[in-house]
Amino acid sequence: MAIDRVISGNRRNEQEENFNLSLRPKNLSGCVGQKNVKEKLLIAIEAAKGRSEPLEHILFYGPPGLGKTTLAHVVANEMGANIRCSSGPALVKQGDVMGLLTNMAQGDVLFIDEIHRLSTPVEEFIYPAMEDFKVDFTVDSGMHAKTINFPLKRFTLIGATTRAGLLSAPLRSRFGMLYHLEYYSTKELTEILHRSSQLLSLGYDDGTLELIAARSRGTPRIANRLLKRVRDYAQVKGSGKLSKNILDNALKMERIDELGLDELDRSVLRALAEVYEGGPAGIEAIAATLGEERDTLEDVVEPYLLQIGFVRRTKRGREITKAACEHLGIEIHKNKTKHSEPDLFEQ
Ligand code: ADP
Repeated sequence: MAIDRVISGNRRNEQEENFNLSLRPKNLSGCVGQKNVKEKLLIAIEAAKGRSEPLEHILFYGPPGLGKTTLAHVVANEMGANIRCSSGPALVKQGDVMGLLTNMAQGDVLFIDEIHRLSTPVEEFIYPAMEDFKVDFTVDSGMHAKTINFPLKRFTLIGATTRAGLLSAPLRSRFGMLYHLEYYSTKELTEILHRSSQLLSLGYDDGTLELIAARSRGTPRIANRLLKRVRDYAQVKGSGKLSKNILDNALKMERIDELGLDELDRSVLRALAEVYEGGPAGIEAIAATLGEERDTLEDVVEPYLLQIGFVRRTKRGREITKAACEHLGIEIHKNKTKHSEPDLFEQ
């Protein structure tokens, strides 16, 4: 059973995509945070423009919702180039990529999300496209098979992945620039929320945006999603203006605590504490215990729990930390876990 999470960094539906699109910054100066990455991109863009050359291929990696797609669009915009978007799982056959590549104009950007999920034949097909701007396309099969060599325009491939480790070495080595996106600070997320509330013409009391930012797990997509939830709640239960009280009630309804942890995070921590006596436990075992997808735990739940020091990764598996036990109000006794506090959200 996969839980539909407000605070998963993953995209959820078309409606949310449109909402995100309206809040997406269009140029580098509009992007908050990621100072290091932005500085390097700015130099690369200036240099490429100065030489009237397309940019080198770029790989953005990091947890979902941190701005990989946004940056790909920003880069294309800053270069004055067109962008075409696809994703690893959508490009099944060589023909799928062939269509995209042969329609690219000089300097255009091809964005491939979840690039670690490209099939091996497609991946091998794009190597010469990335390196020599040509593709070898096979038509017919058996005796009549022939390979046609197509020259391509010089384009820029921008790949995004949550798992750089799953990328094959030959693919990784064909990117000229590899950028890791970091979680955002509460201050940066507050700035993003400030901008979003202006775009949405939302009124708010002092300090409310900081409180939303603090519960957004360092992730802009989650910050904007929480803002949307609180906005709905304020419209229906209040005057439409965001206040601390509205925020507390809205997030309590979503069962999101003051650190931004939700039911799934707490289930992972409780499983570690109660079923595995604090750990170590393998991710596969925890996923099986909870009936959750291993990928969800590895992509969205674990990185944040590691980041805030609630889970430790050891060679033998994951372990819960003292800080997490204190937050949940549980004590670990080997062979027995004692609860000292009731559920945080018990009404
Ligand atoms: P990813 O591709 O890494 O999953 P997205 O690029 O789709 O993430 O970002 C999700 C949303 O977060 C965007 O729609 C945008 O509104 C917001 N966002 C991301 N990065 C930034 C940023 N640097 N500044 C402001 N908003 C951002």
